Amino acid sequence: MLIRCWGARGSIPVSGKSFDRFGGDSPCMEIRDDEGTCLIIDCGTGMRRLGARLLDEGREEYALLMTHFHWDHVIGFPFFKPLYKPSTRITLYGWPNVQGNVQEKLFHVMAPPHFPVPARDISAQITFVPCKASFLDLGALHIETIALNHPNHGLGFRITEKGKTFVFLTDNELATSYPEGSSYHEFVDFCAGADLLVHDGEYSAKEYALTKAWGHSRYLDAVQLALDAKVARLGLFHHNQDRTDDAIDAIVRECRAVVGEQKKTLDCFAVAQDMEWILA
Ligand SMILES: [Zn+2]
Ligand SMILES: [Zn+2]
Repeated sequence: MLIRCWGARGSIPVSGKSFDRFGGDSPCMEIRDDEGTCLIIDCGTGMRRLGARLLDEGREEYALLMTHFHWDHVIGFPFFKPLYKPSTRITLYGWPNVQGNVQEKLFHVMAPPHFPVPARDISAQITFVPCKASFLDLGALHIETIALNHPNHGLGFRITEKGKTFVFLTDNELATSYPEGSSYHEFVDFCAGADLLVHDGEYSAKEYALTKAWGHSRYLDAVQLALDAKVARLGLFHHNQDRTDDAIDAIVRECRAVVGEQKKTLDCFAVAQDMEWILA
C-alpha cells in the first residue's frame, strides 16, 4: 500500500516562508493498492495538486471517501481538474446513516453564491455508492470505519492490505465525548497494532483550554493513543494554521521526550505535505 499526503494543514490553508517544510495545503490523502486502486480521502486544497499529478499520469478512475464536510476538507474539490474531463470516472462512497447525502454535501461547495462554476459543468462520471456495512472492500483494500468525536460528525478509516494497516483519524477530539462519536477505548481497539497512524494533533494543552469541544486533539493525547494501541508509527496531522515549521519541530521533540519517559517504542513525527509511505 502506498500512502501520500497532499495536505496536512488544518482548518484553513496557509502560505509563507514559516510554513515551507510542513506545507500549507489542507487535508487530502491518496492511497494506492498493489492492484492499481487509487483511493482519495478528503478534498482539501491539496487535491488541486493531486489532480494535476493524476492527469500527468493519465489515470482516469478513482474512489473517493470523505471524513466529513467542513470547508478545509472540501474546498479543493472544484479545483480537481479531472472533474472537467468526460473520461474521468469517480466513485464516491458514503455512509448515509452517519454522513447523510454525501453527493449533496460535496457539491454544496460549488453552489451559489460560493463558487462561479456550477456543479452541472462537471463532465466526469461520478457514481455515488451508499454503504450499508461499517466496512468497505475496494480492490485489495479492506476499509473499516469509526465515528469520530467532531462537531457535525466525521468518519475515521482503518485500511488494510496484505496484513499492513494504515489508520487515518483527522478532526478527532480524544479527550471529549460526543453523543454520536466513539469512546477512547473504541479508538484504542480501532488503532490496535497499526503500522501507521495519522492522527489529529492540532492543539497544545494550553490552547486546548480555550478550544475544548472544537473537535481536535492535543498532540500528547494522540501520542498516548498511539502508545496504548501499540502502533508502530504516529504522524501528527491537521497542523494549526498558526503553527510554524519550527513550532512543529518543537512539538515533535516534546512528543518524543514523552515516549522516552514512558520507556516505550514509537516512531513519532509530524506529517508534511508530499510525504509518502509504503507499507509492505
Ligand atoms: Zn479539518
Ligand atoms: Zn472538521
